[in-house]
Amino acid sequence: MLNIVIFGAPGSGKGTQSDLMIKEYGLEHISTGDVLRAEIKNETELGKIAASYMDNGKLVPDSLIIDILAGVLDSKGGDINGVIFDGFPRTIAQAEALNKMLEGRGESVSAVIGLEVEDDELVSRIIARGKTSGRSDDNEETARKRLETYYSQTLPLKDFYIGENKYVAIQGQGSVEEIFADIKRTIDALI
Ligand code: AMP
Repeated sequence: MLNIVIFGAPGSGKGTQSDLMIKEYGLEHISTGDVLRAEIKNETELGKIAASYMDNGKLVPDSLIIDILAGVLDSKGGDINGVIFDGFPRTIAQAEALNKMLEGRGESVSAVIGLEVEDDELVSRIIARGKTSGRSDDNEETARKRLETYYSQTLPLKDFYIGENKYVAIQGQGSVEEIFADIKRTIDALI
């Protein structure tokens, strides 16, 4: 099974490139951000808790998000080509939990695709996306907070996965097609 982590700052293109990978390789997509937004839309207790973090550009606590991820992973049957993890893990604790969860299924992370994009570009992409996404966190103020959170809590994962020999840096600026061509080369080398 292919277990791909798509990694990068908010606005780096994880969702866009995930969509292309799903089409190309028939992978399942798990986006913790999408799961949380669905909870908010359905006005669940979890959604209420999550919104208070998301609207401030902060991470939802590890224990909550790890439980959510485990539940979603369990809901995917055994007969799948693989999974794209989008927006998870975002902390070292989450990465360790993911390793354990996959290990328990006789699986492991195949590769971590790191989309590397400059800060100014990230913020302008998020502001542009905010015009149509309807996401309350797609505005300049929250985008800058999300970036701070990314640098302090999520970027350390790059070294974690370099240490595991899993990290592949992809230049995340350029056309969507060019970026996907680089990703495709990486995945094709794995299968
Ligand atoms: P995203 O759609 O991946 O940009 O996620 C939107 C927001 O959901 C983030 O800014 C966090 O507040 C929250 N979130 C999504 N995934 C995680 C995660 N793995 N850990 C903690 N918080 C998360």
